[in-house]
Amino acid sequence: MTDRKSRREFMGLTAAGVAGALAPSWMGGAHAASVAPISQSADPDLVVFNAKVYTMDSAAPRAEAFATSGGRFIASGSTADMKALIGKRTQTFDAKQMTIVPGFTDCHNHAGGNTLLYEVLVGNPFEVEFVTIASIIEKLRAKARTTPPGTWVEGYFHDDTKLKDKRLLNARDLDQVSTEHPVAVYHRGGHTSFYNSKALELAKVTKDTPNPPGGTFDRDANGELNGRVTDRARSVFNGVGVRPKFTPEQSAQRDRDGIAHISKQFARYGLTSVHHEGGDLTAIQEVRARGDLHHRVSYEASGRVLESMITSGIMSGFGDEWIKFGATSEHTVDGSFSERTMALSIPYPNVQPPYKGNVTETQEELNAWVERVHRAGIQVNCHANGDVAIDMYLTAFERAQKVAPRADARPKITHCTLINDDLVRRMKALGAVPAMFTTYAYYNTDKFPFYGEDLMKRSMAYRTMLDAGIRAAAGSDFSPGPFAPLMGIQGMVTRTGWDGTTWGANQRISVDEAIRVNTINGAYASREETLKGSITAGKLADFVVLADDPHTVNKEKIKDIEIVRTVVGGTTVYQA
Ligand SMILES: [Zn+2]
Repeated sequence: MTDRKSRREFMGLTAAGVAGALAPSWMGGAHAASVAPISQSADPDLVVFNAKVYTMDSAAPRAEAFATSGGRFIASGSTADMKALIGKRTQTFDAKQMTIVPGFTDCHNHAGGNTLLYEVLVGNPFEVEFVTIASIIEKLRAKARTTPPGTWVEGYFHDDTKLKDKRLLNARDLDQVSTEHPVAVYHRGGHTSFYNSKALELAKVTKDTPNPPGGTFDRDANGELNGRVTDRARSVFNGVGVRPKFTPEQSAQRDRDGIAHISKQFARYGLTSVHHEGGDLTAIQEVRARGDLHHRVSYEASGRVLESMITSGIMSGFGDEWIKFGATSEHTVDGSFSERTMALSIPYPNVQPPYKGNVTETQEELNAWVERVHRAGIQVNCHANGDVAIDMYLTAFERAQKVAPRADARPKITHCTLINDDLVRRMKALGAVPAMFTTYAYYNTDKFPFYGEDLMKRSMAYRTMLDAGIRAAAGSDFSPGPFAPLMGIQGMVTRTGWDGTTWGANQRISVDEAIRVNTINGAYASREETLKGSITAGKLADFVVLADDPHTVNKEKIKDIEIVRTVVGGTTVYQA
């Protein structure tokens, strides 16, 4: 990529004249074996020394220094050994004893940059932050002032348990925004929304409207609508009011700018590889071409894109080291963990009448879908939260392997939240790769009382998975969960939330294990463990410089460690 090479800079040093004089890039595989190691034939592009390097490579777990060339690591070792490689055109970076780890990987992210860039955000997408209902009203009023009456005024990233007011937002609050605009506030979890009276009136919803199947119009103690609407009941708002219209060109431009924007956010938090749950494939390619893609994309297809992969014979792994087809996007088998609809084998504690969550597909439908995708050579990926849904998915995959055996297929389980011994044994036998919630253990403890400690001991079960030899990876599920890897690591290590409560402490893992989960295990989940995920000669030079060492700081402060620098393919993409 021309623009990438032209931006080959480190530490603010200009690399003028360097890009054109680069040695042939490190090709890897059979081709590289036929040429001399690059460290002998050319100066490294970069030598980093005087660092505490945690390589996540079990053959050499620690180093003080490393060298990169052509976007790849070419050597690691002691500061003295690496300094000996420095040549005339080598840039150098004295890390002054800061910590360096491989770039982080998020294996489940909806990567919706448009919302972050263009919409009114009434909650903090990235951190635990309590806001007031007054601040939500104020932000939406400002939007209403520039919006014609009758057109929707909408707020995003609301979290009902992150309000200083300690009560639910309601229609009367949103009537203070406007009585002439329909107003909606969307929960970041994606299953509940809050509306003002104008919106309810336009949708012809009254206190006498019955709840439709799969959703509710919530009411207060007096039976009046309170403005909270759940799941499928929200579809009545789709056709009412005016929504902004965009030309195809405008939509494409928003998609591109959205991807470029979220890519910057990923870099800011140290993510160098992200598994994209869908999104506009054209926009991702165009953003890369213009030099604004700062992270590597494992693209998870559904719908039209997945169908064209199957019909044209495109399998997982097609693409290059920047944009590659990964597993499918999450094929949904059950409901949500944070919004309490996942499918359990026992009733939810303290819910009457007894409720066991939602299974959203029959075993037969699931079997057929899994077999079809598996036969096409595409890595299967299902969203399964509850033990019932995980069992259904494993049953479908065991069957697919019988009718169409494929070695090392690595079925991906998105979320894989509530497990038991039998499920773990079957996952291990199939070589399944779970991508489990990461930041929830810190961010969402206010929602765990709905499950209780007995179930939380078996939820987000990193300890159990690693002990069983299963390569569990990290899946933030942004936007429902924040994606900051350090917040995720802190939660895995402490199992203690922002509110000081601890849930399922038996599932704690060590700092080193948590870093592995967020790096090399993520690479394994997309079958790229020989390409990235550790600081190993020959792998892509993706790494993160941290101001403090997560192994030695107070465990409750891991999430606050400053990301000093994020580097992808030897190029700095973020600098504090
Ligand atoms: Zn998801």
